[in-house]
Amino acid sequence: FTGKTINSLVAQRINKIKVKDVCSFPFVLDEQVSVYDAIVSMFMEDVGTLFITKNGYLEGVVSRKDLLKATMGGMDVSKVPVMVVMTKMPNVVTINPDDPILLAAQKLVSREIDALPVVEVKTLANGEEKLRVTGRITKTTITKLFVELGETR
Ligand code: ADP
Repeated sequence: FTGKTINSLVAQRINKIKVKDVCSFPFVLDEQVSVYDAIVSMFMEDVGTLFITKNGYLEGVVSRKDLLKATMGGMDVSKVPVMVVMTKMPNVVTINPDDPILLAAQKLVSREIDALPVVEVKTLANGEEKLRVTGRITKTTITKLFVELGETR
């Protein structure tokens, strides 16, 4: 095999992998939960990004730095709801279960973020489109996949 052939074999393998094949279970919190409880959840669940919902549908994401900023701002973290400090829809970058994992990795890199909620679109009775969170893709997901691919003979 030439170097070029090997590269394209690797690309072929990566391109067959879909988001739903490798995504992990999502941890979600309601938008009314306090900043304090969001911080506790981040430690308890051992995640760096929390997905925030309203009536079970995606409304935002909150990262470690969002929560650090909130605590430094001097707000009463046990009173302020997490929705005040989260990045809100429609600015949340998402991915679909059937998308290629390469697209997820490209989004993580180009948007300089650590995690993407995996979402399915639900159309409500009034025609409104909402997003149901079904999974999570993080930089760790991609790193684990990289190791697995590298170790495969
Ligand atoms: P950290 O802040 O812990 O370094 P990130 O780099 O992921 O984590 O977050 C940087 C900023 O981007 C934060 O304000 C966060 O709310 C936002 N962010 C994180 N994930 C997403 C996403 N999937 N879509 C949009 N914004 C996001």
